[in-house]
Amino acid sequence: MANRKMMHTDQLSDAIPPRVSDLLRVPAGLVDLAAIATGATPGFTGSGKADGKAAMRRLAPRLADLQEQLYAEGHAERNPAGRRSLLLVLQGMDTAGKGGTVEHVLGLMNPMGVQYHAFKRPTVEELEHHFLWRVERRLPPPGIVGVFDRSHYEDVLVVRVDELVPADRWSCRYDVINRFEAKLATSCAIVKCFLHISKEQQAKRLLARLDDPTKHWKYDPADVDQRAYWDDYQQAYSDVLRRCNTEAAPWHIVPADHKWYRNWAITNILTERLEGMALAWPTPAGWNLKEQRARLAPDP
Ligand code: AMP
Ligand code: MG
Repeated sequence: MANRKMMHTDQLSDAIPPRVSDLLRVPAGLVDLAAIATGATPGFTGSGKADGKAAMRRLAPRLADLQEQLYAEGHAERNPAGRRSLLLVLQGMDTAGKGGTVEHVLGLMNPMGVQYHAFKRPTVEELEHHFLWRVERRLPPPGIVGVFDRSHYEDVLVVRVDELVPADRWSCRYDVINRFEAKLATSCAIVKCFLHISKEQQAKRLLARLDDPTKHWKYDPADVDQRAYWDDYQQAYSDVLRRCNTEAAPWHIVPADHKWYRNWAITNILTERLEGMALAWPTPAGWNLKEQRARLAPDP
C-alpha cells in the first residue's frame, strides 16, 4: 500500500505541466518563423475548441483575482511595493487576433484596471518626436494592466518594410528598445506576444470579413497591400524576436491559427507572469482593524 502511494506521488510530480510561458518563450538565437507551426497547440492537453473554451472558463477567476491584487497593490497608500504595473505588448500581422485577444483575454479582467491603446500610423505631432515619445505617454501607471495593440515595434516592422526611414535609422532602434524596456522592467512586468498566423489563415480571415457585412468595418484594402510583403514582414519579425528577446522583456511566439488556443495561451502567460510577481492583498495602512470594527459595532 505504502509503495503504491509513493508511486502515485511520483507520478503526480512527473505530471506537473510545463508553464505555457516557458513553452512559448522564444529561445536565444536565430528565429525561423517558417519552422514554427501556426496551427500548433503547445501545452494544451484537451482535444480542440470546446475543451479550449472550457479550460478558459476555469482559468478566468484566477486571472481576475490576480489582476485585482495588482490593482489593490497599486492603489494602497504608503505601500512601497505598490509601484508595479504590467504591460502586454501584442504584435502580429493584420487579422492575427490582436483585437480578439483584447476582447477574450483582457475581457476577463475588471476594466477599471485595464488601459488599452492601439498604435496607428503616427500623427504629425508624434512624428516630430523620438519614436518612443508616444509610447512613454501610454505606459500603464501603478496597479494597471496596459495593453499595446501594436507598439514601438512598428518602428522596426512597418517602418522597415515600407522603407519609411532609411535603414541606418531603424537599424539602431533594436538597442534603443532594449534599453528602454530594461529600464521600464524595474517597475513594470513586460509580456510580449507575437501572434503567429499563416498566410493562408490570413486570406481566410480577410475573406470572412468580406463575406460578413457586420465585419466590413474591419476590412481595410491596405491590409491586402501589406500582405504582398508577407515574407519581408516575416523577416522583420524574426529580427525583432531575435534581437529584442531579453530576460527583462522576453518574447513569446503564440501560434494563432486557432483563436481558442491563442486565447488560452495568452491567458496562461498573463496568469503565470502575475503569479511570479508575488502579489499580496495590501494590509491596513493608517487605520486599525480592531478600532474600526468597534466603531461599527451595533449601538447598545
Ligand atoms: P490597425 O492596427 O489595423 O488599425 O492599423 C494600424 C496601422 O498603423 C497599421 O497599418 C500599422 O502598420 C500602422 N502603424 C502603426 N505604427 C506605425 C508606425 N510607427 N509607423 C507607421 N505606421 C504605423
Ligand atoms: Mg489593419
